[in-house]
Amino acid sequence: MDGLRFECQRGCTKCCETKGYVYITDDDLARISTYLKMKPEEFTVRFVYKTKHLRRLRKPGNGEQCRFLKDGGCSIHAVKPVQCRLYPFWPELVEYRDLWNDEATRCPGIGKGKLVQIGTALEVAEEMKTAYPGVYGD
Ligand code: SF4
Ligand code: SF4
Repeated sequence: MDGLRFECQRGCTKCCETKGYVYITDDDLARISTYLKMKPEEFTVRFVYKTKHLRRLRKPGNGEQCRFLKDGGCSIHAVKPVQCRLYPFWPELVEYRDLWNDEATRCPGIGKGKLVQIGTALEVAEEMKTAYPGVYGD
């Protein structure tokens, strides 16, 4: 494939409502804590679920996927986690055209807007792999 079209659609929050986990990096934790004027330890206790190799945001427990989705938008948009910032240019989507096309059923921005060269899309996807070695392996 030579490129992928994507343009985030105004007012859409579908990716924040899709069932799944929001993993966070060390930098995410530091940036979001500072943004919320909290100590990283306090933020961790309140908002983070830790496994042996990964950290993710706790879900609200009311069936919603992310507690930072408020009033129709991301309340931490300026410092949102890497995976939110880079979506939909995730390795598993960029590297397989059928999965990219299938993702369009969840993201209405896929297939719209300007053409992103495949090399650029793969570079962004590489950023995901670097940010989340616990997800994508070393
Ligand atoms: S689902 Fe796609 S179009 Fe909608 S907010 Fe997420 S990235 Fe943007
Ligand atoms: S952190 Fe923000 S962008 Fe990421 S899932 Fe939650 S509301 Fe959406």
